[in-house]
Amino acid sequence: MTDFIPPAKPIIGEEERAAVDRVLRSGMIAQGPEVAAFEQEFSAHFLDGRAVVAVNSGTSGLHLGLLAAGVGPGDEVIVPSFTFAATGNSVALTGATPVFADIEPDTFSLDPAAVESAITPRTRGILAVHLYGHPFRVTELQGIAARHGIPLFEDAAQAHGASWDGQQVGTFGEFAMFSLYPTKNMTSGEGGMVAAATPELERQLRLLRNQGMERQYENEVVGFNARMTDIHASIGRVQLTKIDGWTETRRANAAYLDQHLEGVVVPPVAPDATHVYHQYTIRVPHDRDGFVAALRDEYRVGSGVYYPIPNHRLPSLRRFAPSDELKETERAAREVVSLPVHPSLTRDDLDRIVTAVNSVAKAGA
Ligand SMILES: *Cc1c(COP(=O)(O)O)cnc(C)c1O
Repeated sequence: MTDFIPPAKPIIGEEERAAVDRVLRSGMIAQGPEVAAFEQEFSAHFLDGRAVVAVNSGTSGLHLGLLAAGVGPGDEVIVPSFTFAATGNSVALTGATPVFADIEPDTFSLDPAAVESAITPRTRGILAVHLYGHPFRVTELQGIAARHGIPLFEDAAQAHGASWDGQQVGTFGEFAMFSLYPTKNMTSGEGGMVAAATPELERQLRLLRNQGMERQYENEVVGFNARMTDIHASIGRVQLTKIDGWTETRRANAAYLDQHLEGVVVPPVAPDATHVYHQYTIRVPHDRDGFVAALRDEYRVGSGVYYPIPNHRLPSLRRFAPSDELKETERAAREVVSLPVHPSLTRDDLDRIVTAVNSVAKAGA
């Protein structure tokens, strides 16, 4: 029987194991020198030297970022509904209201026109998502934010190394969050990185991460324990040395799929965008779920649907549902399928994915 091709596969090598072993043997395993070094290296690699604060998950990063930026009860933050629930959750956790705006069909990210019309006197920020590793419409959203005097925040959980008009994502927003969960483009086991545009925001993030303390037992604000451990940081540091090669492979895999897939809509890339293909997402307008089942059962090709239920219809967040229908959000939730694109795929795997998709698409046409 042919092997199942999984939709995602974290790559952990000998170097990661050795790094963890080194930290464990040192006897110093909580937040310490490995975390500090990881912050420096991550910043140099992805953020052009912008300050970055390591935390224990991407979700913590969003939550702390919003709190550090002063978002709280009575405020509104504009977010997409077509994203992982952590985006809207983090806004709700501050006591602010997530205001769900529609996406545009090509990038699957916030539609600038929808954002513009969602702005009210209570809007305290725009939290946009670089979904699937494709940057959101940076220039237009920056323009809207500047015109209204509100900050732009970046959920870059899926977009390590992506860029817009030659500039890396994570360097545009007041803060930007990168996730290091195992299925993301690189991992530390669990973890997140938050880039901060100003020294004051960085300071607030460091306080909130560690019980509100800069000096031991002199707690200045009510904070969390959202610290990363040196064990996790040591894994992340090794992955950082490999991420560029993996991204190149993701992009080459995507180019191969673009070239060979037939009968489906392949992912468009905006002219200003460098896409890092966290996901390679196609649209299947008719019977998407049957398509997914056929790939799995007939060809042993795994795929994923990110995300089948828009956030504003989840039991947890539907009290924030807008009165207008989010048409493109609903359509995307019905039509999207993400195919394997991860760097562990062999040429045979890619050919099997192509054969599977083209055959199932043809049969369904
Ligand atoms: C993964 C993800 C998060 C949350 O990151 P965790 O590290 O899993 O907490 C937030 N937003 C998006 C878009 C994500 O994909």
